Amino acid sequence: MTVRVRIAPSPTGNLHIGTARTALFNWLYARRHGGKFILRIEDTDRERSRDEYTQNILSGLAWLGIDFDEGPFYQTQRLEHYKEAVRALLDRGLAYFCYASAEELEQMRAEQKAKKQAPRYDNRHRNLTSEQQAAYVAEGRRPVVRFKIEEPREVTWHDMVRGEVTWNTRDLGGDMVIARTDDQGQVSLPLYNFAVVIDDIEMDITHVIRGEDHIANTAKQILLYEAMGASMPEFAHLPLILNKDGAKISKRDGATSVDEFRAMGYIPEAFNNYMVLLGWSKPDAQDIFTMQDAAPLFGFDRVNKAGARFDWDKLNWLNSQYLHDMPVEDLCDRLIPFWQQAGFNREVDFAAERGWLLELVTLIAPSLTRLTDAVEMTRFLFESELKFTDAAIAALQPEAVKPVITALLGQLKDTPVLTADAANSLIQTVTKLQNVKKGMVMKPLRCALTGDVRGPELIPSFLLLHQRGLAIPRLQQALSIT
Ligand code: GLU
Repeated sequence: MTVRVRIAPSPTGNLHIGTARTALFNWLYARRHGGKFILRIEDTDRERSRDEYTQNILSGLAWLGIDFDEGPFYQTQRLEHYKEAVRALLDRGLAYFCYASAEELEQMRAEQKAKKQAPRYDNRHRNLTSEQQAAYVAEGRRPVVRFKIEEPREVTWHDMVRGEVTWNTRDLGGDMVIARTDDQGQVSLPLYNFAVVIDDIEMDITHVIRGEDHIANTAKQILLYEAMGASMPEFAHLPLILNKDGAKISKRDGATSVDEFRAMGYIPEAFNNYMVLLGWSKPDAQDIFTMQDAAPLFGFDRVNKAGARFDWDKLNWLNSQYLHDMPVEDLCDRLIPFWQQAGFNREVDFAAERGWLLELVTLIAPSLTRLTDAVEMTRFLFESELKFTDAAIAALQPEAVKPVITALLGQLKDTPVLTADAANSLIQTVTKLQNVKKGMVMKPLRCALTGDVRGPELIPSFLLLHQRGLAIPRLQQALSIT
């Protein structure tokens, strides 16, 4: 048997971390077993589906490097398949038209609520005569198609994550709607639970791997597989991603869409690594690994049943590890878009000035947690106009500062080539000449050059600024504010 798995996102929002994690687990399972990973866009909800969300899902998966082998298939291009399957169920008496109006359903629910019962459809139109049906049609009612759910009955499956799962059909809300009809009373749009089963059958899906929030759907879908006489796939329900309080992760927790994480400066390798850890652990308990490392080892025996708590500190730590270990050329390429976005390309030609950029990247790499950290950290090197923090201005005020900076300027003008050694001896000379402690030279120098009391290592920053022709003007400028 060839393993065939899929993800089936609905394009009703941007690629969510939950969907991305599900995609990754499917991908790992497919790669582990030499199988196929299929992408299907479930776009039958015409009101909420948007093309821009489909594009966002595709670009998000591409950014993560989660490649699929077949698809994307679009459900709206497969409507005839669903219609035909609905008609077959109607013909076999396994489904029927229900004419209950929205008001009737509303009233039914209100009565159930008053009796403290769970909301359900009471199957009232299951056995209408053709005269009753004709009368509803004459009233102009537009029916839906419902699939008969036999009650009570236990539906049991062996879940690859949760072990044996059993649902009683009494808890499925009554006969389920599987399709809507059009103005002519003809079967038109299928609903999720139905379309998904038809697709999974026709696409020969062998393992349905998805979030735990779909467990109740699985019970319904199993009934549909049975009605269609199709062989049942295996099911695996992944633990939900929770916030630190144990609730399902939401926008309020900082970020939920892959896009947002990308904009925050996380890199795909680290983000994938973190997503795999949201539910799975490597047999050797190592935390840092690529998805290529994980694939040969991946299995559901090591997937947790309990919800996975999202931990920003861990994600940040992983991201920093990847950034610190990355080749400098690669890191530079990844930083450039963030620098460009900050507008630094107005003063720097990123293609032509690669030399000092690589030196800069080497300098800041050990301090980076996210790519975005590099923006404020390096602003003083890109923008010729320097912004001073209050602390830096205060540090430039003592009387002893002016002669120190004047001496630094004098020495610098006499230094033909500024190397690290030359910079160090220049500082030493000024320390001696002014008869001050080294800190009394270093601090004003840092404030004058960078506008801040802290930042990247001073000597390499000094060299880079000097290379860019900015060191002398900055020292001169500092004299005017001391
Ligand atoms: N369209 C469903 C969703 O986005 C797919 C669930 C499934 O994998 O069956 O949640």
